[in-house]
Amino acid sequence: MKCNICGNIASIKLDYANLRLCNLHFVNYFKRRIKRTIEKYKLINPGDKILIAVSGGKDSLTLLNILSELREDINFYLEGITIDLGIEEYSNKYIKIVKENYEKFKVEYKIISLKDELGFTISEIIKSMKRRRPCSICGAIKRYMLNKLAYEWGFNKLATGHNLDDLLYILLRSYIRGDYKQALKLYPLLPGNDRLVTRIRPLAEIPESDIILYSRIKGINFLEEKCPYSKGSKGFTYRKLLDMLEQESPSSKLSMLRSFYNIYKPALESYYLKRPIKLKYCKSCGMPTSNEICSVCKIIARVQRG
Ligand code: SF4
Ligand code: ZN
Ligand code: ZN
Repeated sequence: MKCNICGNIASIKLDYANLRLCNLHFVNYFKRRIKRTIEKYKLINPGDKILIAVSGGKDSLTLLNILSELREDINFYLEGITIDLGIEEYSNKYIKIVKENYEKFKVEYKIISLKDELGFTISEIIKSMKRRRPCSICGAIKRYMLNKLAYEWGFNKLATGHNLDDLLYILLRSYIRGDYKQALKLYPLLPGNDRLVTRIRPLAEIPESDIILYSRIKGINFLEEKCPYSKGSKGFTYRKLLDMLEQESPSSKLSMLRSFYNIYKPALESYYLKRPIKLKYCKSCGMPTSNEICSVCKIIARVQRG
């Protein structure tokens, strides 16, 4: 098997692109595709102040590596944020790894303790809200905290490491639940307004398998251990289904996402978003919400009541 670019021995086979590549040309191809996503969806402009959410997993650390390399070319400011969720040993492990990577890639960063910010750790919150799925509570809290801090610290963009598989998983889930509002948020760029900071997902068109390859080739040390609360999550089954589909019919993952962007998303928007949604501000914390009190303030009030 020879590399399609240089003719040396190829170590990587990308069926979806019908390419065989050596490590060097895979790395170039990987970076070029992310740059293309950034340009195509106008994710980054010179002068941007970008806060990147880093969790210690392969996706956010790969994005940290790529954005740290691009910041001089495009001329934007980059800073990292990691939330210490207080999930016992698991949090200690990812915090150690993110610190090493921030230093390696020379990116300024802040580690924020959820206990200090909200008064409770994720473990405490999950234990007192037994009936709700841990990841839906944790996900809502993380999104809230990241937006709030990015806004308060004066960043105009918040970057996250969502990859192609993540977006397709959310798309499938929202289709099954009939949750069109969730589906409409699936795009590499989610424009902000006022207290809602613009969110960008530069890895939105990159399959998870490519990110694993890239991080291994580049020697990016990431946490492979899964969060103890991820057990029983349906995500694994959805992802397995998507992988089977891709194996049977290479490039179906990307086609599925592009069809959604080009055909279904505009149709949903013209049907459901005839009038723009008016955001209110939470009466308790002042952050944007569609209700009187935002979901995170409701969660915290419930935990406080015990
Ligand atoms: Fe939070 Fe679930 Fe992720 Fe654990 S797996 S960090 S509970 S979203
Ligand atoms: Zn090559
Ligand atoms: Zn609130």
